[in-house]
Amino acid sequence: MSHNYVIGFPRIGEQRELKKVLEKFWAKETDFAEVERVASELRARHWHYQKEAGIDFIASNDFSLYDNMLDTAVMLGAIPARFKGLENEELYFAMARGNKDAVAMEMTKWFNTNYHYIVPELSKEDNYVLNASKIIGEYKEAKAQGIRTKINLIGPITFLGLSKRVDRGDTYEFFGKILPLYEQLIKEISTLDETVTVQIDEPIFVKDVESKVLSLIKPCYDALCHAADNVKIIVTTYFEHSNEASKVLVHTPVWGIGLDFLYGDKNLQSLEQIANNGKYLIAGIVDGRNIWKNDIEASLALLDTISYKIDKSRIIVSTSCSLLHTPFTLRYEEKMDPEIKNWLSYAVEKLDEINLISKSFFGEKLNEEERSALEANQKANQSRRISSRIHDETVQQRVAGLTKLQRDGKYEERIKIQHEALAYKPLATTTIGSFPQTPEVRQARRNYKNGIINETEYINEMKAYIDECIAFQETCGLEILVHGEPERNDMVEYFGEQLKGYGFSQNGWVQSYGSRCVKPPFIYGDISRPKPMTVDWITYAQSKTKKIMKGMLTGPVTILNWSFVRDDLPRSEVSKQIAIAICDEVKDLQEAGIKVIQVDEAAFKEGYPLRSENVPTYESWAVRDFKIAVSSANKETQIHTHMCYSEFNDIIRTIEAMDADVISIETARSGNELLKIFAEVGYKQEVGPGVYDIHSPRIPSVEEIVEQIRKLLEVLPKEQLWINPDCGLKTRKWEEVKPSLENMVKAVQIVRDEL
Ligand code: GLN
Ligand code: ZN
Repeated sequence: MSHNYVIGFPRIGEQRELKKVLEKFWAKETDFAEVERVASELRARHWHYQKEAGIDFIASNDFSLYDNMLDTAVMLGAIPARFKGLENEELYFAMARGNKDAVAMEMTKWFNTNYHYIVPELSKEDNYVLNASKIIGEYKEAKAQGIRTKINLIGPITFLGLSKRVDRGDTYEFFGKILPLYEQLIKEISTLDETVTVQIDEPIFVKDVESKVLSLIKPCYDALCHAADNVKIIVTTYFEHSNEASKVLVHTPVWGIGLDFLYGDKNLQSLEQIANNGKYLIAGIVDGRNIWKNDIEASLALLDTISYKIDKSRIIVSTSCSLLHTPFTLRYEEKMDPEIKNWLSYAVEKLDEINLISKSFFGEKLNEEERSALEANQKANQSRRISSRIHDETVQQRVAGLTKLQRDGKYEERIKIQHEALAYKPLATTTIGSFPQTPEVRQARRNYKNGIINETEYINEMKAYIDECIAFQETCGLEILVHGEPERNDMVEYFGEQLKGYGFSQNGWVQSYGSRCVKPPFIYGDISRPKPMTVDWITYAQSKTKKIMKGMLTGPVTILNWSFVRDDLPRSEVSKQIAIAICDEVKDLQEAGIKVIQVDEAAFKEGYPLRSENVPTYESWAVRDFKIAVSSANKETQIHTHMCYSEFNDIIRTIEAMDADVISIETARSGNELLKIFAEVGYKQEVGPGVYDIHSPRIPSVEEIVEQIRKLLEVLPKEQLWINPDCGLKTRKWEEVKPSLENMVKAVQIVRDEL
């Protein structure tokens, strides 16, 4: 009997082999045969890692050259019209990345992870035809290596739920067209072996489920289960509970149900139903989206709780979700502090955890090596519980004794004082913070890191950049200046590197989209700020100009949302610690004479929970921590914030409650549409809607910016508006940034003269 299970494995390769070969292929430096060779080598390696670790249920078709949603669209023949005529890899990569004639398909975040999938585009004209060759091919490939895999599929309901229709209609209307192809697929799969197991992912069930979606579950899974007798179907969800769907699924002939007990502990409520209907439970208990060593004792306790309701013989021990969201292996982390490394576990190490947990839980005999691994696991967890590198009493006392939770003065009072002190005009111009990150700036940072230049040389280079950046802003006529952020590689990493309690990896790459990977820093311990982080740079910049210099910080919620976060403290507590560190920085900047400070919350919206039942809690601590972060600001210090999107309809009251004096947002591509909600609800504070798109190299003309500003003025009065680009300028070139900002300033002059 098989006892343990891995939902899916990362595919980019432990040395990012897939990334490298894909990028070579795209650059026409190698052929597609080479891509296929590397891909098949990676699949084999990943299957064998799992087999050697004693995993019973190993996936095929979790691999993808770009993305599994894209693979599913191709499998169904859901090809947007603009790609017709293309074939094979040319078609596939054109859909993912665009080509000279056709723009790429849209990409968006996979639930609340940082993985991005390709959004399928469906149309009434589509003629769906099944192409199961990838799925069948991978199964046979594994079988030839002695591994009978379970086949991973994205379920029809999730596929439709995440797709869009070109005519903006309801994608679920295509259910009747898509389901027969899935039935046909199950039939094809059934010919592969005596019995075959199929894992059908339906993570859409963890969101707020509409009754319309729920009503599809029974017909869908009745039909798929009846398509073939020898195919065992497991429906998996992850990232939250899916109790509403489980209630229906147990009354279909599915063989098993996979649930996440780490991010969806409410799934425990479904155990009885699963037991009563004789289903197998794939119990997700090893964290598939974090980097911490599993606490095996705690996992066994959780499994015991589950086994009060479900007979052990029907429990299968699993990862909480695909390991896609964790880095590969600790093997290459050569520079990491050994104490910290001992607390971590990446995908490969998690396989051993699954094996140890399932053996212990099912009472199988452990060999010598396994016994000592189990002991080592206990010790590592014990050391994490007490290590002084994690638990910092000073930080804990500060958190406990925190009384000042917000700044003094109501907005109305503050803004009056600020207008007197800062004397800026209506439609004041500013930028979001960063200026072009030139190759020279990047090189200087690298050289300093690698010891090729010393600190003085480095500082001088950065200062030279700041000088130039300020000189440009002055001649251009911008009113509130920035220093340009040349010293920052990334808006989170820069602060993480200076905060105690933060760790960094050498090889902790996680796929973000296509061939792109990110290496998030991780928070392992209580957070504190040993010394000021930005004050020297900002005060230097201020010393170079008589104009107002805006200090630039990243907010607590964004720092949290773009890091791996410790799992031994609630996120809200970690966020509060970061907020206190930022609050100290605000205080120091203010004492150094900085009058305007921007605290970026680019990832505020990203952190929203998947289910509305959890939204109020998130909002309350996220707002609380932004307010703590700026609580040291005096009434006359103006606090700005920035968010990289503009769909605020559902969260406008929350944004208002953050009580920043000024918020800049991204609106250029939507005219004044998305600003309207601010007027509708009577939003009080000042707003800087982006007047041009910084994602494109295009230089906006004076006329079009004038037009854009006039549109904004139809919605909000000039006294409430700031004029700025959509976001930071770090990815643009100076040749683009200079004329664009010059045009922006000219446009403001024209509009001001009209008023
Ligand atoms: N201040 C940051 C910058 O300009 C903000 C970046 C962001 O919003 N993502 O680069
Ligand atoms: Zn932004």
